[in-house]
Amino acid sequence: MNLIFLGPPGVGKGTQALQVAAYAKLAHVATGDILRAAVKAGTKTGLEARSYMDSGRLVPDEVVNRLVRERLEEKDTQGGVLFDGYPRTPAQAQSLDAALRELGRKISGVFDFQAPDAVLVERISGRRTCGKCQKAYHVKFAPSKAGESCETCGGALVQRSDDKPETVQKRLDVYRKDTAGVGDHYRKAGVYQAIAADGPIGAITEDVLARVKRLA
Ligand SMILES: [Zn+2]
Repeated sequence: MNLIFLGPPGVGKGTQALQVAAYAKLAHVATGDILRAAVKAGTKTGLEARSYMDSGRLVPDEVVNRLVRERLEEKDTQGGVLFDGYPRTPAQAQSLDAALRELGRKISGVFDFQAPDAVLVERISGRRTCGKCQKAYHVKFAPSKAGESCETCGGALVQRSDDKPETVQKRLDVYRKDTAGVGDHYRKAGVYQAIAADGPIGAITEDVLARVKRLA
């Protein structure tokens, strides 16, 4: 079984991906992780990716696709893969189709996690981290008992600049622009499923696992 999890920042797809990958014994494949691993291992494609990152440029689609293709040749992916946040564009989706076809594999299901922008902005912009011990909080969903300070070590809670509401809205806009057409690509292939992800995490996990069982 090969699954794709799509969804904007803050939708909680990463948490769901880890649970489903463990449950269905799938290799968890996220492009950020592949990129870091390839750079660390010093592979040819990894070094190429690094030259872009070192100069502050975005790693081009073609290099990302090649990294994914190389990752699919590793043994642990033979029992199935959960792609987390990839493909992000229709061009990446086509490249993934071709790579899987070459390997005699195919996508079993694409889960598109959806929530209104207002919910996503509230979730992300409420995040705080202790500047001293890195403990994570949320002003609404997991507030510190010590108010503006860390309840464990007393450190000041800080907000990542990426998590400020206006930046979050920009990140969401970029996500929608990049991914436009990816859902349709898989709808045409008959493997697309939309997941309502604005409710409690436990209920979403139950829904997702039931869908995975139906695909197995
Ligand atoms: Zn702390």
